[in-house]
Amino acid sequence: MPLDLPLLNSSFNAKDKYRSRVGTSYALLPFKFIKLDHKRYIVTNFVGEYVVLSRTSLHALIQHKLEINSDLYDQLKVKHFIIDGDSTVALDLLACKYRTRHSLLKNLTSLFIFVVSLRCEHSCPYCQVSRQSQDRQAFDMQLTHAEKAIDFVFSSPSPDLKIEFQGGESLLNFELIRWIVERVSHRNDIESRNVSFVIATNLAILNDDILEFCAEYEIDISTSLDGPRELHNANRPRPNKNSYELTIEGIKRVRDRLGNDAVSALMTTTPASLSQPKAIVDEYLQQDFSSIFLRSISPYGFAVKTGVASGYSSEEWIIFYRSALDYIIQINLEGTPFREEYASMLLRKILTPFPTGYVDLQSPAGLGLSCLTFNYDGSIYASDESRMLAEMDDYTFRLGTLDNDTFADVISSEKLIGLLSETMTESMPMCADCGIQPYCGSDPVFHYATQSEIVGHKPTSGFCSKNMEIIKHLIHLLEDHEDSSLVLRSWIS
Ligand code: SF4
Repeated sequence: MPLDLPLLNSSFNAKDKYRSRVGTSYALLPFKFIKLDHKRYIVTNFVGEYVVLSRTSLHALIQHKLEINSDLYDQLKVKHFIIDGDSTVALDLLACKYRTRHSLLKNLTSLFIFVVSLRCEHSCPYCQVSRQSQDRQAFDMQLTHAEKAIDFVFSSPSPDLKIEFQGGESLLNFELIRWIVERVSHRNDIESRNVSFVIATNLAILNDDILEFCAEYEIDISTSLDGPRELHNANRPRPNKNSYELTIEGIKRVRDRLGNDAVSALMTTTPASLSQPKAIVDEYLQQDFSSIFLRSISPYGFAVKTGVASGYSSEEWIIFYRSALDYIIQINLEGTPFREEYASMLLRKILTPFPTGYVDLQSPAGLGLSCLTFNYDGSIYASDESRMLAEMDDYTFRLGTLDNDTFADVISSEKLIGLLSETMTESMPMCADCGIQPYCGSDPVFHYATQSEIVGHKPTSGFCSKNMEIIKHLIHLLEDHEDSSLVLRSWIS
């Protein structure tokens, strides 16, 4: 039989199908690039692979002049920047990586925030939720709304359901928290989801009864710690001026009863924090935390009215952040493992194909898809920040009410879909061409609050400049500083 006849009823293709085309040409797959410094560019593709190239190499790549079989050629091929005749499964691999990167979308909402009370006994000038005084029970969530919210939670198809109690000071309505946790746990005997609970609290009114309940239902605690005593107490005034003392005592009590990892803390950067990056990190180390989340202030509620939110520029915050990050890396190099959380989430996006559930680092944004918020009055919001905006009489991100809407109504509503369609960084002006777009996200509520529109004008956006600088800085450390790179890589393991 002549050898070149097509083989019928065979699982083999004709032999020219197997001939390598390496050495003849390559095609470019979609990628973007952005300047890292005056000599080099960060080049990324839509599945989040990156390479750093000199200007000469970038030109050679684009002009199809790469030296075939060079290390750079192989690196670009492995990372799906180019494809040649040898790359038979490259497109399938690319699709697989893209699906993995967006895998959170298929489960829909997993985080549900219950604002059980807007009352608080602190009077922080940077309060972003517009807290109410302790005696105003009208700002507590009602049982009927809590009951409907639980139905809402279990309507999500997500196997993981996290319920976070927020305030004001959420423990001022602890009896409702108790009722919700018992009710959800009972219902979950049948539903069998992975349910977890977190209480966000300043710990000032923590007592043994609450601690016992948290122990029984394995509830985690999230608190606020802004830094050393003077800074924390200045940021977070309360009667007796003892917020710091109560927080530290509360952290100790939680750890004694629930275990070391049951409590985490968040800091908020105020103008007074900017000069104290090391002292703030030292405070977290002293309190035996294994990480810190360096957060800038958000432009909502009292933070806007008192002017605290405009007390520093994004450039000043970036200087503060980089200084704290350098110090944290140094601490690691001296032998103490300690992470910065925002960098850790970005590194996960830069170095792995896996997504992060952080609402502001997603495309489309995590509005509704990752998180829904039930406000004290029964309104449903697309995120925690959306309900903060509502206290400023702006209801742009209200998706419905517990009295009138179901999970399906909200998730498939034109309002949510319309909002989400404007948060795809792949197609947003400037983001679409940005070399670090795969690692960034969108924050429509921030842009709406600061620029009066959802997409945001990126050249003047504080969100954009913050992410741009931090992501470039992380890639610079990964590429140019071996010691720092090892530390940063350890944060994603
Ligand atoms: S927000 Fe800025 S940094 Fe982020 S992708 Fe868009 S242009 Fe790039």
